[in-house]
Amino acid sequence: MNSKIRTRFAPSPTGLLHVGGLRTALYNYLFAKQNGGQFMLRIEDTDRARLLEGAEKNIIETLRIFGLDFDEGPIRQSDHLEKYKERAEELIQKGAAYEDGGAIRFKMPKDGVTKFTDIIRGEIQIENETQEDFVILKSDGFPTYNLAHLVDDHDMAITHVIRGDEFISSMPKYIALHKAFGWELPQYAHLPLLLNKDRAKLSKRESDKAVKVLLEEDGYLEEAVLNFVALLGWHPKTDQEIFSLEELIKEFKLEDVQKAGAIFDIQKLDWMNGEYIRKKTPKELVELAAPFLEKEGEGDSSFLEKIIALEQPRLKKLSEMPERTDYFFREPEYDVSLLKWKNMDDNQTKNSLELSAELLKAVNDKDFNKENLEKIFLDRAKKFQDRGELLWPLRVALTGKKASPGPFEIMEILGKESSISRLEAALDMLK
Ligand code: GLU
Repeated sequence: MNSKIRTRFAPSPTGLLHVGGLRTALYNYLFAKQNGGQFMLRIEDTDRARLLEGAEKNIIETLRIFGLDFDEGPIRQSDHLEKYKERAEELIQKGAAYEDGGAIRFKMPKDGVTKFTDIIRGEIQIENETQEDFVILKSDGFPTYNLAHLVDDHDMAITHVIRGDEFISSMPKYIALHKAFGWELPQYAHLPLLLNKDRAKLSKRESDKAVKVLLEEDGYLEEAVLNFVALLGWHPKTDQEIFSLEELIKEFKLEDVQKAGAIFDIQKLDWMNGEYIRKKTPKELVELAAPFLEKEGEGDSSFLEKIIALEQPRLKKLSEMPERTDYFFREPEYDVSLLKWKNMDDNQTKNSLELSAELLKAVNDKDFNKENLEKIFLDRAKKFQDRGELLWPLRVALTGKKASPGPFEIMEILGKESSISRLEAALDMLK
């Protein structure tokens, strides 16, 4: 265990925390924790034009939801403006920077090559002639990212800088700045880009993939989102795909993060979310699904538990609940033609529904359960050429849907009276 390892997550509070930001935070957290080190939160708020009200709160809340507790912070750069100014002036005194209008620029050496080792990418070389003199302190007195992050990483004794790979091309700047200050370099690990499935860079179009949206609107579970994000660029050597945070702390390896862009595959998230949904009890799911079922109105919790238990084997995300289960909360509406199985005509469909209603009326209230109903109906269905002729019109009358769970479990939940009245409503449509 190396107790000196210190990492940081350093988001700019310019919007809701996105999947990419969560991944950066997670990898920093995992690397610190697996080494007995510390994980810090720093808010990089020096680009005043891009600040968004509430963004910092969202960042902190999101980290808390996922249990990514930071040991220090939030450290806010705007609280330390004096420090950056002093550092910029120090560079002027050393002859490494100069005033340009109201701003201060760093004199970038233009010859030679910058070489460094990245934990993920290995040896990297960049020609210094690709760089220009760059602003470190703006005329408004605020430092640029280039100066501020580096001064803070030094002051916070950060040992490992784990961040997105868009910063690689500026590494000559950071290395030259370290040299000018006479500071030791931290180690760097630049994380691969997140790509859409068509391999295009995750764009503004994807801005709906804020973590908050995934949780609160799309209905993904926290465990699934965290697990999914962990695998955006890292995979264990085994086939294991389901990981808790504790397991990730044990298994994650920074040096095994891939160099190539990581594909954001929403279908994989759907699959993974389904896996986590299956691990919950119906009672837990009722609580988790409550925000999505609000509009469906009343329903005591045992009624909701039964509905959720019915959907649990198939459900991919909680936001599907209203559309999948609306028929439990109100009489279904559907096109009369949906009642017909294959080539059935109106008359056959009517007869089938009438028979179902009769069968239901003959069942005692206390025997109105799935097993019993299944026995009665499957028995009777033997007299049909195709049992769909009995069961399809019944199921559509109950649900109004092309696809749903089976009619017997649905009738058990709806109860005798409501099941019969739905059959009668279907018969009315056929009149
Ligand atoms: N504020 C930078 C960003 O949000 C942080 C980069 C870094 O981790 O150094 O991209």
